[in-house]
Order: sequence, then C-alpha cells, then structure tokens
Amino acid sequence: MKRNILLTLVASIILSLSGFSTEKLPAPFKIVPQPQSVSLVKGPGLEFNALRRIALKGEFKRPVMGSILSQLPAGKANEKGTLTLTVDESLTSPGSDEGYIMTISSDRVDIAARNEKGIFYGCQSLEQLLEDAKDYKKPVPACKITDYPVLSYRAVHFDVKHHLDHMNYYYESIDRLARYKINAVVFEFEDKLRFQRQPLVGAPQSISIDEMAALTRYARDRHIEITPLVQGLGHATFILKHEEYAGLRELIWNNWAFCPLHEGTYQVLFDLYRDAIDATPGSKYLHIGGDEIGNIGLCPRCKPMAEKEGMLSLSLYWLKRVCEFAAENNRIPIFWDDMPLKQGGVYESTWSDEVTTEEAEKSWKEGTPELDKLLTDFPKNCVYMRWNYSMARQPGNIMALDWYKSRGLKAMIATATNTEGGMLFQPEELDKGLESSGISTIRSFIQLASQKDISGMLCTAWDDKSPHMENYWRGFIASAEFSWSPEGRSLEEYDNAWLQKEFGISMNDYLAINNQLRKGSELWYEAYYKKGSRLDDEAALQSLPRLEHWLPALPNQEKIQFDYTSKLIELPDLESPGTWSRKYKDRLDRSVAEVENYKLLNTRLSDNYNTSKRNRYYWELAMTLHRFQNTAPRLLLALKSVDNTDKDQQKKGMEEVKRAVVEFRNAWAELESVYSRTRFVSYPSNYIPDRYFHLASQSEDLTWMIQPEILYLGMIEKWIGNQK
Ligand SMILES: [Zn+2]
Repeated sequence: MKRNILLTLVASIILSLSGFSTEKLPAPFKIVPQPQSVSLVKGPGLEFNALRRIALKGEFKRPVMGSILSQLPAGKANEKGTLTLTVDESLTSPGSDEGYIMTISSDRVDIAARNEKGIFYGCQSLEQLLEDAKDYKKPVPACKITDYPVLSYRAVHFDVKHHLDHMNYYYESIDRLARYKINAVVFEFEDKLRFQRQPLVGAPQSISIDEMAALTRYARDRHIEITPLVQGLGHATFILKHEEYAGLRELIWNNWAFCPLHEGTYQVLFDLYRDAIDATPGSKYLHIGGDEIGNIGLCPRCKPMAEKEGMLSLSLYWLKRVCEFAAENNRIPIFWDDMPLKQGGVYESTWSDEVTTEEAEKSWKEGTPELDKLLTDFPKNCVYMRWNYSMARQPGNIMALDWYKSRGLKAMIATATNTEGGMLFQPEELDKGLESSGISTIRSFIQLASQKDISGMLCTAWDDKSPHMENYWRGFIASAEFSWSPEGRSLEEYDNAWLQKEFGISMNDYLAINNQLRKGSELWYEAYYKKGSRLDDEAALQSLPRLEHWLPALPNQEKIQFDYTSKLIELPDLESPGTWSRKYKDRLDRSVAEVENYKLLNTRLSDNYNTSKRNRYYWELAMTLHRFQNTAPRLLLALKSVDNTDKDQQKKGMEEVKRAVVEFRNAWAELESVYSRTRFVSYPSNYIPDRYFHLASQSEDLTWMIQPEILYLGMIEKWIGNQK
C-alpha cells in the first residue's frame, strides 16, 4: 500500500515537472478539442456571470469572440471580474504558435499566448466552459490549462461539385469550425466560382470572386485560411464539357482529362488559378488536385513521350509546371498523390486490405527505384497529400509516408467524414479493426500522421452522392478533436463531448440509435432494385449512355432504347397472388421492422430537437430524412397487402398503395424544403449539365436522389390503371 502511494507521488512529481497533468475537468465541463493539460486549483470556481470586462495587454486587436464573451466591455487589466488577455512574444511555454495558457479563478481569468492565434484559441476554450456553466448552472472549476495543437494545418473540405450551399451557411460554418479550432477550409470550387479570366467555366449561380474574398477575410479573422482547390489534369469535366475547350482534351470524345503537353491547358489552368488566388487573398496554399487522371499519354502529342519516358514522367511534367506557377505566385501547392504512386506500381499497397505486408514490401522494393529514378522531377515546394479513407494502417500506406519523409518531400494526410453510402444516415462502426467506418478512421489516420511527425491533415467531404452538409459535422469536429489532441479522448468520450458542445444534450446510446436509422437508409437504398442499390453505378445511372467516363459514347439510339425499369423489382401479379410476397420476403420482413421501429426513433429524434440548446436544424433534418427513408418500407408493405387472394383485401391494398404514394410525395416535398434552407436545390435553366458517373451529377435538381421512385411510381400508376 505504502509503495503504491510512493509510486503515485513520484509519478505526479514527474508529471508536474514535465508540465503535463493527467487531471481532467470535472463533469459536466468539456472543451472540444481536448486540451493538452489541465491542473485543478483549490478554491471556488468562476460563476457564469463573474466576468464583467476584458483587458488587452500588448499590441493586438481584440479577437473575434463567441456570443458570451463578445458582450463584455473593455476595462482595466488584472482586476476582479476581468478577463485579461496578454500577448507576450517571449513566452516559451507552450511551445506552439497556436498555444495558450489560461488561468481561471473565482473572480478573474488570464489568458497568455505568444500571439493572437493563441489568444483566440484560449477565448474559444473559455467560451465553451462558460457555456457549460450556463447550461448546467455550475461554476467553472478553478484551474490552469496549458494547451496547443499537435498538428498545425487542420483543414476540412467544402466540395461543391454537385451542389451549392447558401452564402450564409458558409459564414455560419466558419464560426462553427473556429469554435473547434479548425484553421483551414479546402474549398473545392469546381464551377461554383464566377471565374473572370475564363468566364465560361463558372455556373450561372456561382459565387463571385469578391464574395469569396469577403468570406476569406471573415475566415481569417477567425484564424481560418481558405485554401482554394482547382482540379487540374483529370476531374476536369466542369471545364472540358464546354465545346470551346474540346481542343484541350486528351481524347476528343472525353471530358475528363486535359492534354498535359498542350500549352493551352496551362493557359486555362493558370487563368483559373489566378482567379482562385484573387478569391482567397492572403492564403498560403493552392490545392491543384491532380488525382484520378485516367487516360493520358494517348494523344499524338503525348504518346511518344509516354512510350519513351513513361507515364510517370508525363504526369510529373504537368505537376512541375503547375508547381512552378504556384511558386511564382507565392503559394505552396498541395497535390493528391495517387498518380505517381500508381505509375510507380505501389498504389494498391496503400489502400487494399488484401495486400499482405510481404506483398507490400515486395511492391515497394520494386517500385522505389522507379520513383527514385525520377526523384529530381518531384517538385520540392509541393505538399504531397496522402489520401486514405479507411483506417489507413495498410503497410503500403505507411511505407508511402516513410518514402516522402526519407526523400525530403513534405506530406500531409487526408481522411474522410463521409464514406460511400452516407447519403442519408452515416455508417458508423467503431473499433471493428480495419473494417471500422466513420470517426474511427478519422482518428486512426490522424494518430498515424502524428506518430510520423506529419503536421497537416484534411478531413474530406466528397460530394459524389451529395449528402446534406450537416451529415459531415460529426466527422469534421472529430477531425478537429484528434488533429489537436490525437491521443486525447476515446471514441465514446468524443461522442459525448460532441453532443454536448453542438447541441447541449447528452445521449448515452447515440451509436445504437444511429445504427438503427442507418439500417433504414440501407433498406431505402435497395428497396426497389432487383440487385444492388441506388448507390451502385450499374444500378443507378440513367442519364449516361455508358458508365465508364473513359469509354466513348454510344450512339443516341441505344441510349434511348435502354429500359431502366428492367433494373427494378416487378409489381405483384394478381393472377398469382402471394408469389411476389414470397419472392421479396426478405425486404418485406425488413420493412415490417422499419415501420414498427419508426415511432420510437421518431420520438428520440424529436426529443433531441426539443431539448437541444443550439443547432436544432440538425435534428430537424434527421427527422425529415427518417420520415423520407421510411416511405420505401411503407410502399412495399402496401404492395404486399394487394398481393392477396381475397378480392376485398386486394381493393383495400390498392387504397393503401395510393396513400403510400401520396405519403412519398409529401415526404419528398418536405425533404426538398428542409434542404433548401441551406442549399440551392436546383441549377438555373441555362446551366450546362456536367454529367459523369457521380450519382449526384445525374440531374440539375435533387431528383437524382429519387431516380428509382420516379420510375417505380410510373410503373405503379400504369399497373393501377390496368386493374380497372
Ligand atoms: Zn496529350
């Protein structure tokens, strides 16, 4: 026993000497992201209304503050009731430019930092604590917090490929991100910036350069950089769809990729970059995309070089040109790194869980000389963004990070808040090893980055199936949490903290409820398809003559003739009642479970809506999505009622089907209306469609979401007509 006490004493002396503390803020107080070190101090805490004024010591502007602190007037430093902010460049602790030290006692608070960033983050932490004091009617405990981030570039992704949110939603999002100490947004413009130098490219409702510059300044006041992303060599349909640019395509019939050896390619890209730079004044980075280029090296200009020097040389030529441009314009280029790894033969080892350690080692042993041979062609001013949206523990992925480091190239990592299938409710499986999904993967890759001394991360939010932006926030905030404190909270602790900070609620079974909602999404994806789901390209794409963007288009005739209803399940055959119900027993059983569970889940969501103190829109959206996805099981069960030998029952069933159709139309109208509160739900009529294999590019309004319903309801209408 004595020995234990002695050991504890020694341990706590060591901890206090190293400046760290294992202490945690007592419940209910929480700061997201988790601060590095908290020491509780004896004595009464700080009551919610104990602070009366703010004083600034040093030459700096009063920081932008949250709704509680911003109300305090200016006053004298270090007095009772004063929040004193001190900027002192000579401070050595904490050793980060973004760090701060905050001392909270019953009648005053002091925040000291080397510069304004640290002061800003200290104020964000204090705001969160005061919010808890107000929500739970308890004083903030007296304490000293020493805090700093582990990663220095903490970015989230706004991808507006297939939709655009309202400008005020972006402003609100900046405030929300700043609260969690995110310090960059990679804004992937696609055609949603009103480019001046290439005016064809911007969509009719795009954001003007002045509007984006204003958002950039607003974000900078909150210590967030907007990093523009303009896709380059591949992913260029939003540019190359215009016939005026047809001459720059690598293959004349293919919108996807530019020719890397055509000078016109650089004239267009550099014009877009110049506009993107004008739209983000003062930003440090320029993301030049560069992933999934597809087929280059095929045109008469490129073929000889591809054959003689290889594909890697050809794509590095493009990379060199765009990186030179970035350097001349005072920006650090960021580049998705998959193409060189593909061309070096090591790519599969970075993502596939089926590649064993031995196989990964073998492919890197063979691939490294290929990459090294061209090492001098890898631009040195470029940030190589290693993307992996799983747990990112594949041996080849780790070898890639090591290769960059050992070759003196700077790498950052990109994880994802939204996996395939997150169109309504997100898949979320914690601690399932490599099979995990959701925030496990975010934490896992960030932890790996921090172990490898990588200083930057981006939490991507791909728009391929264009979920509502609110779907991303739990993941965005998780990326803020773990990039600041990679080894801080457990996943469960994170969920409690996220719910408290975002909504001021607690919910002990968040994951269980989410997983039940998620089951309903899965049924909705699959409900009307014979095989697969609306998430599969093969099942879903109606507007494309061919799925693969690199294949030439079929003649129009064939496109018109294809009957997409053949992919959907047939309707009950009343000549043979019961057959249909037996055939689709599995999805009908799932439908029964969904309909039975509906009320309970709806109650839980509406309880959250009613008790949330902020961001209630999130729960309103969740209720809308839940009601909407439940239309599929209801319609299937109504069809089952018709599938009956009893004629009266058939008649009743028909009425049920008609009601289910009306219910679907109402739920859809509600979804459109709730979506339209934050985003434009359709393009203006003069928009030139940008169609390719992404599901959300299949229509110029939201109807790509309900392609199967549109077809199936058409089938039902005919079928009902035939029964008369
Ligand atoms: Zn070419």
